[in-house]
Amino acid sequence: MQFKAFEPGIEVNGPTVNSVVAGLGYFTNLSRRYYSQVGIGKVINKELHIDLNGWYSQDSWLSAFENIAKTVGDRVLFNIGLSVPANAIFPPWVVDVHSGVKAIDVAYHLNHRKNGKLLFNPDNGSMTEGIGHYGYEGIPGENRIISICRNPFPCAFDHGIITAMAHKFAPLALVKHDDTKECRKKGADSCTYIIAW
Ligand SMILES: [Zn+2]
Repeated sequence: MQFKAFEPGIEVNGPTVNSVVAGLGYFTNLSRRYYSQVGIGKVINKELHIDLNGWYSQDSWLSAFENIAKTVGDRVLFNIGLSVPANAIFPPWVVDVHSGVKAIDVAYHLNHRKNGKLLFNPDNGSMTEGIGHYGYEGIPGENRIISICRNPFPCAFDHGIITAMAHKFAPLALVKHDDTKECRKKGADSCTYIIAW
């Protein structure tokens, strides 16, 4: 389900929260209002400041994000998603569409923690469950990837993230939401996207 944390006690880091604030562009009044309502960030001179070294409750963040999403609609959520990979730093093994889409799940886990421990351990590549996933399934012999996203984020936002990652390496790639599969907008737990280039 969109905006519902999978388990309590998860925290999200400042840069991730900030990428949504930045992606909101001229809707900054919304992020200021809804984030400060749940205690995320500080308003200084009418501007919301997120501590880039800080960690925030995922629960609170998602509830603020839900209020923002209701106001701005899918087109803006898609655009915010597009801006997320643009502001992120990726490991050197990210060299093409396949590795790019795979890296989304790694980056997602690196940006969350539980009990002070990151959900991805870069030393041994192990992942801790608790926030869902950005799926990757390459179709052998084809320039096609199926990505099943089972996480608490809105459908259009993830569509934007995956589109931006694909376009980094294949500017003409088509990223389609598979409407024949379940969708989080309709209360389901996942959405499926097809990336083709
Ligand atoms: Zn969907």
